[in-house]
Amino acid sequence: MKSAFIYTPAFDTYSLGTDHPFKPYKATMVYELCYRYGLFDHPWIKVLEPMPSPEEVMAEYHSQEYIEALKACNGGYYDFTMLHFGLGTGDNPVFKGVYDFSLLVLGATMAGTECILNGEADTVFSPVGGLHHGGLGHAEGFCYVNDIVIAIKRMLKRGFRKVLYVDIDAHHGNGVQDAFYDTDEVLFISIHQNGESLYPGTGFENEIGEGRGKGYTVNMPLPEYTDDEVYVRVFKEIFPPLAKAFDPDCVVAQIGLDTLKRDPLTNLRLTNNGYCAVMEEIRRGSSKILALGGGGYSVPDVVRGWTLAWAILNGVKPVDHFVGSVGSGVYGHGQSFDQLYDEPHRVSDALKKSVDSYVDNKLAYIKEQVFPIHGLSS
Ligand SMILES: [Zn+2]
Repeated sequence: MKSAFIYTPAFDTYSLGTDHPFKPYKATMVYELCYRYGLFDHPWIKVLEPMPSPEEVMAEYHSQEYIEALKACNGGYYDFTMLHFGLGTGDNPVFKGVYDFSLLVLGATMAGTECILNGEADTVFSPVGGLHHGGLGHAEGFCYVNDIVIAIKRMLKRGFRKVLYVDIDAHHGNGVQDAFYDTDEVLFISIHQNGESLYPGTGFENEIGEGRGKGYTVNMPLPEYTDDEVYVRVFKEIFPPLAKAFDPDCVVAQIGLDTLKRDPLTNLRLTNNGYCAVMEEIRRGSSKILALGGGGYSVPDVVRGWTLAWAILNGVKPVDHFVGSVGSGVYGHGQSFDQLYDEPHRVSDALKKSVDSYVDNKLAYIKEQVFPIHGLSS
């Protein structure tokens, strides 16, 4: 096994705004917590510092018109014409260095992609990446560049025949779905809070792909109050059989952590225990995996969860070498990290009943419409 954690402190120099929930500095917090728990202390693990991507890489997916618009905003100034590109909105503010930041995110994801393609690593995690809402010609949902689409396209161009994309962010991965809706080279699986109750309002179970891609887009919408028990059950019913049948060359995983019950933007009720169970399944999905951070807005919770994810991806247990000697205050996070794991949480029986019946209905649809396309019985 060879693995690479993609990280640079340069992410700390960018801010979408004090009040904006997307915090690029969480990469540094994850790096520090992984370090504290000895999760770089193995000979097969390396930390790789990425460089900004060359400009032309962005054109491997995005329109030239959009790239020029984003570039024009780099100074932090813009006019109303930029709204056409989704730039200058509350979700996607124009900030100083917005183009440089996008190139750095893309550079990090592409460094990981190259590691996998040239055999330098089979397991990669880039915490600031996984911007799954980015459109071909516009920004949306905190995403200015769709690094995921560009990474998958690069993999296919360089000889991978089949890529499995799995998205466990609380939001539907609409930008990635749009890019691969009509191909059978990419199996897209997104499990998310439903479009009736959450942005981007898409990702219904009947969105299953078209043409050659029919059956290669799988959407599992979840109702509010979905907890660990339901989530893990749903994931295990969908992901392992499809992953086995598809037999991908690589798994690209958007491992967003806005599914947690304390997340301020969503209404799911997970703890990191459920998240870890799902990460174990993803790990088993392929010998090659590119994991990208994605969303997650209860920052200290996300940092603990991604630290656990990195441990799982490497098949190691976190060990706190500093326990009893230094307080967590030295890390300046204003949060105790003594406990990496959350307390278990289960919603009430009454809620559970309605959640169960909702998901059973959606699961039945997927098994009926999608599973037979992959030679699986419904
Ligand atoms: Zn999200």
